Amino acid sequence: MATNQLIARVRSEGRTVLTEVESKEFLKAAGIGIVDTRLAASREEAISLSRQLGFPVVLKIASPDVVHKSDAGGVRLGLKTASEVGKAYDQILLAVRGKNPEARIQGVSVQKMARPGVEVIIGMSKDAQFGPVLMFGLGGILVEVLKDVSFRLVPLSRRDAAEMLREIKGYPLLEGYRGQEAVDISYLEELLLKVSNFVEQNPEIRELDLNPVFAYSDGAIAVDARVILEEVS
Ligand code: ADP
Ligand code: MG
Repeated sequence: MATNQLIARVRSEGRTVLTEVESKEFLKAAGIGIVDTRLAASREEAISLSRQLGFPVVLKIASPDVVHKSDAGGVRLGLKTASEVGKAYDQILLAVRGKNPEARIQGVSVQKMARPGVEVIIGMSKDAQFGPVLMFGLGGILVEVLKDVSFRLVPLSRRDAAEMLREIKGYPLLEGYRGQEAVDISYLEELLLKVSNFVEQNPEIRELDLNPVFAYSDGAIAVDARVILEEVS
């Protein structure tokens, strides 16, 4: 689906929050690397998509009313067989309906289990005064507990991108720590520039989160994404 059609559909449903599947579709169209992700509207479809993508897979709740999917019991990782996928589908729907009976549920997203990498996050929010600001940080507890993040105004210069990566305290983790492989720093710089560009080209985006992006020695890929649109006035 073309991006403008996608946005129009979200708007026509009176929504501003895009689901993971919609957010990834939007980002993919802009050339930003995401894990190939499909929407399954039923248990059977989840199983057949898993077979197509190849095991192991990940299932996640697809609902515009569930923003934090793990907290809602809506994420199952490393599913190795069709029967595991079927069970996970039922468990996810049960958990989400239990917590939020009103949630509109589109189904589940199905994606391949990405190989482990260094988890980083890239975000965008809008400052009332300065407009869009990009954030970069290391994923997981590093960002949640230590707030080890850097910020730059959009549009980013090449130099901004280089500085954003190097400014965080956790930078040594990207350079390879205790025998762990170094990540592809220049790829991450390009990714920050691409995201900056994407934000600049799409002023109707109010908030963006790639959380996490798995960074590798040979690239990086977002495994979760969230786009929130501006309210229409
Ligand atoms: P949410 O942030 O809404 O709780 P995520 O989609 O970020 O849900 O999934 C939770 C965690 O599961 C991620 O932080 C990541 O560590 C892991 N994860 C998600 N998708 C994948 C994937 N495709 N491959 C491997 N790990 C994943
Ligand atoms: Mg996430």
